[in-house]
This record gives sequence, C-alpha cells and structure tokens, in this order.
Amino acid sequence: MNKIAVVGAGISGLSMANYLEKHKIDYHLYERRKKEDLAGHGFLIPQEGIEYLSHIIDPVLLFKHGNFLKKYIQYSHTGKVIAEKKLDQVFAISRLSLIHLLTQNIPDNKITYGETVSLCDKEKGRLIKSDGTYLDTPMAVISDGSRSRIRREVFKEQKMRLVRECEVVNIITDREITSRIDDDFIKFHHEDGGLTFGVLKLSVDTILWYAQFDIEKYRINECSGNQLKQYMLEVFENWDPLVSAILQSSSYQNIHLWSVYELEKLNPFFTDRMVFIGDAAHPLIPFTSQGVTSALKDAFVLTKYLVQESCLTTAFTKYEAERKAEIETHINNGRALLNQFLLPLTQYSKNILPISYK
Ligand SMILES: Cc1cc2nc3c(=O)[nH]c(=O)nc-3n(C[C@H](O)[C@H](O)[C@H](O)COP(=O)(O)OP(=O)(O)OC[C@H]3O[C@@H](n4cnc5c(N)ncnc54)[C@H](O)[C@@H]3O)c2cc1C
Repeated sequence: MNKIAVVGAGISGLSMANYLEKHKIDYHLYERRKKEDLAGHGFLIPQEGIEYLSHIIDPVLLFKHGNFLKKYIQYSHTGKVIAEKKLDQVFAISRLSLIHLLTQNIPDNKITYGETVSLCDKEKGRLIKSDGTYLDTPMAVISDGSRSRIRREVFKEQKMRLVRECEVVNIITDREITSRIDDDFIKFHHEDGGLTFGVLKLSVDTILWYAQFDIEKYRINECSGNQLKQYMLEVFENWDPLVSAILQSSSYQNIHLWSVYELEKLNPFFTDRMVFIGDAAHPLIPFTSQGVTSALKDAFVLTKYLVQESCLTTAFTKYEAERKAEIETHINNGRALLNQFLLPLTQYSKNILPISYK
C-alpha cells in the first residue's frame, strides 16, 4: 500500500501511527501544534484501554508514568460519604505523558509539526497543506479532534451543540495532598446537582483535580489563571476542607477550561478516500472516560481491515460497522451520566460507576 496521510497527532492519530508502524505500513503524520506545545489534562483509562495501549507501548514503561486507582468514593460537597465502589484496573495518566509515550516509536521523519491540513475549496475531496500544496495520498486518516475542521467541511449539514457542562482541569505537584488521597478516585457532589469536584493521583507527588459545572447555573468565561482561582475559591468556599486545601495550594499557571461539544447525530465514518477516527469521528463527552479507549480501538480496528482487505471501501465499511454501535452506546451512557450530574444528589441512581461501560 502507498503512503497513508494521518492528519492530527493527538491520541488517535498517534495510536494509528503506532499500529501502522507495527504492521510496516508506510504513513506520514501531520500535526498543527508545535512539538513542544503540549498543554492539556489527564485521562482515566479503563482496563480495555490499557489492553489496547499494551499492544503498542511497553506496559512496564506505561505503568511507570501513571497510577492505578483502587476505589471510587462519592461524597456530598460537605464531605459525607454517599457511596463507594472498588475500581477494576482504572488507570490515570497525564495527557503529556501519554503523548510522549505514543510518540517514542514514531521516527522523526514520519511526523511534521506545525502543519495544518485542510480540505481544498476548489478541488473537492483533496487535502491541502498550509503552503498550498496538495496532500496527494491514496488515503487519509482524519484524526483532528472533536471540533474537526475537515469533518465540518466534508459533512456540511452536521450540527454540533454545546453540552450543558464545562470543566476546569488542573494538574498540580503536592506530595502532602497526594499522600492524603492515596489511590482513591474522590468526587464531591453539590447536593443541589450541577457542580462536582474530582481529584485523583497521577504519581507519588502529582494529582489531577477537576471541577464540572452546569453552564446554565455557573457562567464561566475564558479568563486568566488568577481570575479562575478567585472564582473557584468563591464557588467552592463551603465545601469539604480537602477541596479548599487543594484549591488554596494549587498553582493556576496551567489550568484549563474546557467547553464540551457533541454531534447531534453521527456522520458516516468515511468518504471514498478519507476515514475518520477518534474524536474527529465521534466526540465523546468527558463523563464517559472512553475517549482514549475508543481512539485506540478505532486505530486498531481500522489497521486490522487495512491489512486484511485490498479494497479501501471494504476496509472502511467493515471498520465503521465494527465501531459505530459501541460508540452509540457510549454516547447514550454519556448523556445519562450528564443528566444524573444535573440532578440533586437525592435523585442519583444507585449505580455509581463514574465512567461509561459497553
Ligand atoms: C475535560 C476533558 C476530560 C476528558 N477526560 C477523559 C478521560 O478521563 N478519559 C478519556 O478516555 N478521555 C477523556 N476525554 C476525551 C479525550 O480527551 C479525547 O477523546 C481524546 O483526546 C481524543 O483524541 P483525538 O486524538 O481524537 O483528538 P485530540 O486529542 O483533540 O487530537 C487532535 C489533534 O489534531 C491536531 N489538529 C487539529 N486540527 C488539525 C489540522 N487541521 N491539521 C493538523 N492537525 C490538526 C490537534 O492539534 C491535536 O493534536 C476528556 C476530554 C475532555 C475535554
């Protein structure tokens, strides 16, 4: 097979490159950001995701860069335990570490950073680089993320909508707080619903914390780290002392505010020579914690059919058929988790699993 173009080197594009590398299929990755530009958050990855990661990353190395969480504990905002659940092989890792690990097997000459690829206006279906030259490859894997520009240009009728939730995410280094939370995944819920604070350990001295807001009750705009700190301290003022301690001791330099979008309806996952994977094919809301696992599975399944089938359309059709039903389950689970988040605590269901399972 001739060289494949992979557009976007996030989790899905890098996973695809790793699988192609493993099968000795030639490819080139194009990534908009600069190599060293790696802002971002962290991921919870269920056991299935770890299994797919272990196909392409040495598990010993992977486990050195993150942490297995043992127990999920749900608290009210004032610190009353509501429920507990043992977690089975849920792994926490920063985006930065996972991107580094996924990049290590990619030769430098197979990835171009600082390159934004788009769909050519004049010649339908052709991809174009920022210098105006065409990207003429027999097929392109589109992995340019949840707000994929290429998907928007290909499926002009698609509708994206803002999800009724946004997240503030921060990663901090603090050995004292890290030892206090142990290997638990802790989440505090406001009794009236629509506001949570979660915290989990990434390593012996690093934690990830995040706050989820109902955007109809809490209006947060892009602002400086200091302004966000002030806002967080006000909103979480009377919460459990652990929340205040974390918010007080945090640096707000790399804090991130995420608005969350979803597709009203999934598009086809492919056209004649382009195939979409990861968030570019199917944005999943953070409540599912299935974005990374789904990206890995997309890359695995697509590579499997590219190896098996000589006809691209057959490979793409089989890929879509194998992946779409599972993605729809996660979309529905994500909506159920979102609806529960918006409810007062008294109306929460007994099933407290913090992520979506098939
Ligand atoms: C707040 C939050 C919390 C989350 N928590 C979890 C979690 O706990 N567990 C989990 O599994 N998932 C989680 N997710 C989802 C997860 O982040 C995504 O599913 C995953 O990152 C998707 O990877 P991707 O490679 O498809 O997209 P991205 O990671 O968005 O990568 C897309 C890449 O394409 C590049 N790009 C964009 N446009 C172009 C272009 N035109 N040309 C070239 N390059 C381009 C971008 O620079 C980027 O590097 C969370 C998401 C959010 C927002």
